[in-house]
Amino acid sequence: MGDPVQSDRPALRVLVLEDDEDDFELLRREITRIGWSQTSTRVQSRDELIAALQARTYDLVISDWSMPGFDALGALSVLRERNVDLPFIIVSGTIGEEAAVRALKAGASDFVAKGNLQRLSAAILRELREVKTRNERRDAVEALRLAVKVRDEFLTLAGHELRTPLTTLRLQVQAIRRALGRGEPVDAMKERLLLIERGTHRLHELVDRLLDITQVAQQGIALERKPCDLSHIVKDVVARFVEAGAAAQFEVKAERPVTGNWDDVRLESVVTNLVSNALKYGQGRPVRIAVDDLGKEALLVVEDQGIGIARGDQERIFERFNRAASGRSYAGFGIGLWLVRQIAEAHGGTVTLKSEPAAGSTFTVQIPKG
Ligand code: ADP
Repeated sequence: MGDPVQSDRPALRVLVLEDDEDDFELLRREITRIGWSQTSTRVQSRDELIAALQARTYDLVISDWSMPGFDALGALSVLRERNVDLPFIIVSGTIGEEAAVRALKAGASDFVAKGNLQRLSAAILRELREVKTRNERRDAVEALRLAVKVRDEFLTLAGHELRTPLTTLRLQVQAIRRALGRGEPVDAMKERLLLIERGTHRLHELVDRLLDITQVAQQGIALERKPCDLSHIVKDVVARFVEAGAAAQFEVKAERPVTGNWDDVRLESVVTNLVSNALKYGQGRPVRIAVDDLGKEALLVVEDQGIGIARGDQERIFERFNRAASGRSYAGFGIGLWLVRQIAEAHGGTVTLKSEPAAGSTFTVQIPKG
């Protein structure tokens, strides 16, 4: 009998309902004997119990069955009223079967006879283990609930994003069908076909992005490092935005090559995401992009003068599917910055943000040359 003494156990915080000083001492001695250090608080009435519950937290309650003016059933109802969920072990002389059933129904966890205190150790251990399992289960359920919520939000967002180019495609195809019905020459449809081509391209990009995100989330980023030039990547990305008719002016400072051993495709994705955000949230004002050589590290700064980001949102926007701007005004999946951070960190680097609402945002990426 008895568990080995475990000195690494944290002190057990026991709330004891007991009117008899000697019985309280016996209990304390038994808990010590079975290897627990303890802080025991003794109460004898409803008011004392309430005060003790307000004063601190406990690991378990050990209660006499009845005391003058108070009893275990009364204590159980105090705990219930206050939503306090603690193991409740009744230590008493013999109690009748009917009383035992009432106590169990009221939430008691176990009974230990005063004459058989050796059983207390097993009862305490079992109850604490059960609390631990219950807490773990509750945490797991909460994590799952959150994951399902995030997934649902994402599906809604993705649905809306994919719908926009699809609507364009459908309208254009319908228009072409009508024009063909009227016998119009195919030549007249070039403009519409171009729009269709652009629409399918956009859809393709979105789907690729979704697949990439899923892969990164499941497997992390496997970098394919090779020597490359960050200045070159930046100039390429900017040229592409200019070609696509970007609505803002660019000020690019990337004259000298800044080379490192990086995954160029991933770095291009970092630059594209930051620049596309600067355009999207930049209110048409100039976007500044600078590449710098810090010796052992390369520096990329993307700065806009747009809507900015409230302080309270500045950390969470780097989480997956988290957005600060309203979905109505600004479309997006809420994964760009998450990806930027994943890629920077996979390279051993960092991303930092400085922003003031209505004044603009500056994203700084620092990556070791590898
Ligand atoms: P998305 O732009 O698709 O929503 P991101 O992960 O790229 O996803 O950005 C997350 C959120 O961070 C955006 O929804 C927006 O609220 C905010 N954000 C990102 N970049 C900027 C920026 N340059 N200016 C203001 N807000 C930004």
